[in-house]
Amino acid sequence: MHQGVTIQQYQQGLLIDNNGCEKAVKHFLEKIRATQHLNAFVEVYEAESLERAKLLDEKRKQGAPMGKLHGVTVAIKDVICFKDHRVSAASNILKKSNEGKGFTSLYSATAVERLLAEDAIIIGNCNCDEFAMGSTNEHSAYGKVLNALDETRIPGGSSGGSAVAVQAGLCMVSLGSDTGGSVRQPADFCGIIGLKPGYGTISRHGLIAYASSFDQIGIFGNSIADIALVLQVIEGDDEYDSTVLPKKTDQKKFNVGPNTKYRFAFFKNALDHPALDKEIKKNIEELLKDVEKKGHTVKELNFELLDQIVPAYYVLATAEASSNLSRYDGVRYGYRETGAGSITEMYTQTRTNGFGKEVKRRIMLGTFVLSSGYYDAYFTKAQQVRRLLVDTTTEIFKEFDAIVIPTAPTTAFTIGAMEKDPVGAYLADIYTVFANLTGIPAISLPLFKHSNNMPFGVQIMSGKNNEVTLLSIAEMLINDHKPV
Ligand code: GLN
Repeated sequence: MHQGVTIQQYQQGLLIDNNGCEKAVKHFLEKIRATQHLNAFVEVYEAESLERAKLLDEKRKQGAPMGKLHGVTVAIKDVICFKDHRVSAASNILKKSNEGKGFTSLYSATAVERLLAEDAIIIGNCNCDEFAMGSTNEHSAYGKVLNALDETRIPGGSSGGSAVAVQAGLCMVSLGSDTGGSVRQPADFCGIIGLKPGYGTISRHGLIAYASSFDQIGIFGNSIADIALVLQVIEGDDEYDSTVLPKKTDQKKFNVGPNTKYRFAFFKNALDHPALDKEIKKNIEELLKDVEKKGHTVKELNFELLDQIVPAYYVLATAEASSNLSRYDGVRYGYRETGAGSITEMYTQTRTNGFGKEVKRRIMLGTFVLSSGYYDAYFTKAQQVRRLLVDTTTEIFKEFDAIVIPTAPTTAFTIGAMEKDPVGAYLADIYTVFANLTGIPAISLPLFKHSNNMPFGVQIMSGKNNEVTLLSIAEMLINDHKPV
């Protein structure tokens, strides 16, 4: 039940089942209980989601119109605020606040409000890397998350819990956040679809900030139709976030049709990169050949800035993070270390004990690149690289509809593999941070299976504000190339 069923099919079933929402929620709650060891959820809103399901069933029975997400069970990452519910960004600095009871959201994120307004059921919030910093979901105050397909491996990060929630069938769709790949990479490692919309598509109001000029809420799902539907519900302008654009993907425009021919570009040096697993390379090359055979244009480009992407991202993202995280000082909100002799000591002890190792590393990196002696050498330089990337990308999309690139250089890492090698983990973001630096939409599609039995995907990026083309191409590729 519910596995392999789209939202539309589920909702058709609801028309003839008076208790359909309640049954669905019970089903997911049972599955969540049975898979607790995966550690995907921080908190499950058991009683509340059952109550809401019953209410929706009742409303439907009485002939009330169904919202677009009527009865759809959604999980959200623990960086997204839901009024009167705890949120912690998987960090002790929020988890330990309020005498250990945890920090409670005072308002809901715009995305959450829009989900609820269309009758969705939020079933719980999901584990992630602390403040969304990481690629493995091993940096969490709640402990690591396991990949449901191979429990000796990580699910990817930072939105690892949200990815596993969909992968293991614990909800229908979930929300994550993607600052440098945190939706696409875990989707790739878990064998599901992960969309990072373009910057400014979904309001960041109520999303705990990591790097504000990169952050974007993303969607995990099992089908493009489900993801497109959720996107349509939550996207669009919002008085609380001035960077958000008007709605872009109404149903009429989506799905351009099977006979449209697209122009694809791929970066030869990205596929020839020594870090890229040979099987991943081979499968993507074969996909490109196949796409060409079907009458689309496929052209090879050399992307000269490839090696500058990761350094530019880690300079800019950590600079923004060091500034965003300065608000956690033990004074305004969050956890406060008691017993300090002075205010400076209190700040120091609070932040020393509240933040984990990876977050501290990034605050130090960010503070360093912003310091007066190094600002020009690092921060200004990285901004110049970003500008060049944006300009080059704009040129590319004058000629092409999409760029095809791997999502990650390898399949899911084994647990602990990246612990001693933080730089290795950073470098593995080579294919995802590009879309965040340039603000374009990108999606990871689970098309392949490796000989090590793990899934892997391909990443498609489209031009700025062109989610409609991106989703149409994604649908076409999934239909033509059976996912694993
Ligand atoms: N792995 C990247 C990082 O650690 C991406 C994080 C994200 O997208 N939130 O910064």
